[in-house]
Amino acid sequence: PTRIDKALEANFNTIPHLIRLHAAASPERCALRQDGAALTYAELDALMDRVAAALQRDGVGPGQTIAICAASSIAYAALFLGSLRAGVAVAPLAPSSSAQSLADMTADAGARLLFLDQTVAQALKPVRAAMPATPVTLDDSTAGQAFAHWLAAPGTAPAAVDIEPDWPFNIIYSSGTTGAPKGIVQPHSMRWTHVQRGRSNGYGPDAVTLIATPLYSNTTLVSFFPTIGLGGSVVLMAKFDAGAYLALAEKHRVTHTMLVPVQYQRIMAREDFARYDLSSLRMKFCTSAPFSAALKADILQRWPGGLIEYYGMTEGGGTCMLTAHEHPDKLHTVGKPAPGHDIRLIDDAGREVPPGALGEVVGHSPAMMAGYHKQPEKSAEAEWYDPAGKRFIRTGDIGRFDADGFLTLMDRKKDMIISGGFNIYPSDLEGVLQQHGEVAEAAVVGVPSSRWGETPVAFVVLKQGASVDAEQLLDWANQRLGKTQRLAAIDITVSLPRSAIGKVLKRELRDQFSSAKQ
Ligand code: ATP
Ligand code: MG
Repeated sequence: PTRIDKALEANFNTIPHLIRLHAAASPERCALRQDGAALTYAELDALMDRVAAALQRDGVGPGQTIAICAASSIAYAALFLGSLRAGVAVAPLAPSSSAQSLADMTADAGARLLFLDQTVAQALKPVRAAMPATPVTLDDSTAGQAFAHWLAAPGTAPAAVDIEPDWPFNIIYSSGTTGAPKGIVQPHSMRWTHVQRGRSNGYGPDAVTLIATPLYSNTTLVSFFPTIGLGGSVVLMAKFDAGAYLALAEKHRVTHTMLVPVQYQRIMAREDFARYDLSSLRMKFCTSAPFSAALKADILQRWPGGLIEYYGMTEGGGTCMLTAHEHPDKLHTVGKPAPGHDIRLIDDAGREVPPGALGEVVGHSPAMMAGYHKQPEKSAEAEWYDPAGKRFIRTGDIGRFDADGFLTLMDRKKDMIISGGFNIYPSDLEGVLQQHGEVAEAAVVGVPSSRWGETPVAFVVLKQGASVDAEQLLDWANQRLGKTQRLAAIDITVSLPRSAIGKVLKRELRDQFSSAKQ
C-alpha cells in the first residue's frame, strides 16, 4: 500500500495532510480549475502553506475562526484548505445574505479575519463598522487589502499544527429556510468520515467533479472535500447556467457532480440537452430539497449513469441515500439510511411511532455536528435520545418508512397545514399538481382561514406555451384531491422565491399571500 492508502486506512487524518501526500505523489495532477486558470496539487499545497503561514503571522491559530464571503474561486478553495492546515476553522458565508445578516454571522462566528470578493465588499459598506478588522479581498478590488499581498511570501513554511478530530473544521450557517440561520459546528472527524465514504462513491485520483453550487453550502462541501481529499480534480463554476454547465461537463470529461433539484430541472429542460456528450459522468448526486419522482425518472431515462439522492441536513444525522439507478420503483422515496446511520421516527411526545406511521425524522450518524454555535438551548432542542441513551438529531421533517425500509419524506413540520382539524401535507398536493402536463413547478402553503384555521393555496409556475388558467387548474386539482385537502386558490406566477441554493422559501410565499390580501 502507498502512503496515501495507509493515511486513508487510519481512524483519523486530515484533508490538508492528504493534500500534502497527493502533492508529493502526483505534483502535476490538476487539483482545481476554473475558467482558464488551474492549480496543480503541488501548487495548491504551496499556496495552502502561504495561507497557513500568513494566519500564523497574524496571530490566528487553533480555536479561532476566519470568515469567507465570496463567489466560488480557486483562491477561495485554497484559502479554506490553507486555514484548515493552520488549525483555523472557516465560516463560509452566503454572499446573497443581507449586509446586516453578514455582519451578524461574522460576529456570531467570532471571525478574526474576513475575506471577501469585490461584489460583497461593496454590499458590506453600510455595516463595515460592525465587522472585524480590514477585510482581505480575494479578487482585484481596491476595497480592502488584496489577498496576494496578505499571503506569506512564496516558500514560507508554516509551523506544523497537530489537528485533533474534535476541532472545529467549519461553522456552516444553515440555509435559513425555516427561520434565522443557525451556525452549525462541524468537527474535522465529520469531514474525515465524508472523505472515507467518498471512496465507495467512486471518488479517487481519476475523478473530475464539477461544482456548480456555491462553496459556502454544505451541499457543495460534501462533494468538494471527498474529491480533493482523494486526489481528484475539481472544476469550479462561480455562477450556474444550464448551458454553460453542459459545455463544461463535456469539455472536462467530468465524472462526478452534485446538483440541487432545480438545477437538474433546468438542465433537463434544455432543448439541446441530447447534443452534449456526457458519457464520462459516472455518478450524479442530488440533495437539499424535494426531488420529484418524475424528474428522477426523466434523468434516468435520458442521462445514463448513476444517480444518487441524499437526504440529509448540515447538522448531520439523518442521512438517507437512494441509489435511483438501482431502485427505479422507489423514486418517490429518499431511500434507506446510509451505511452506519440509524434513522427513527418520533411523535410530538418524543416516542417512536409504530411501523408504517408518520413521524418526525431523527437521525444518528458517525458524523454529527458538535452543536449550534453559542446556542446551547437550540442545540439541546435539536437532540433526541433513544431509551438506550444514543444521541439523535431532530430534522424537523416528517416522513414514513415503507415495508421495504425506504423513507418517504412528507414535509417540514413547520410547513404542515392544519385545516379543520385535519393534517394536510403540502407535498401531497404538490405531487398532484405536478402530474398536470402544463405545470412546471408547484408550491403549496397554508394561509389563515376564519373557517378552517388554515387552508391550502398553491403557487404554480407553468411550462412554456401552457394555456391552462388558474380556475381550470384549480378544478382539475380539486377533482383529484381528498375532500379535506382541497385547495382554496391557485396563483399562477412566473417564478417561486428560492434561496441561493435553490430551496423554495415557503415563508416568503405565505407573506406574499397575506400582503396580496391587504
Ligand atoms: P434551516 O434549518 O435554517 O431552516 P435548512 O434546513 O434548509 O435551513 P439545510 O441543512 O441546508 O438547511 O437543509 C436540510 C433540510 O433540507 C432537510 O431538513 C430537509 O428538509 C431538506 N432536504 C435535504 N435533502 C432533501 C431531499 N433529498 N429531499 C427533500 N428534502 C431534503
Ligand atoms: Mg434545518
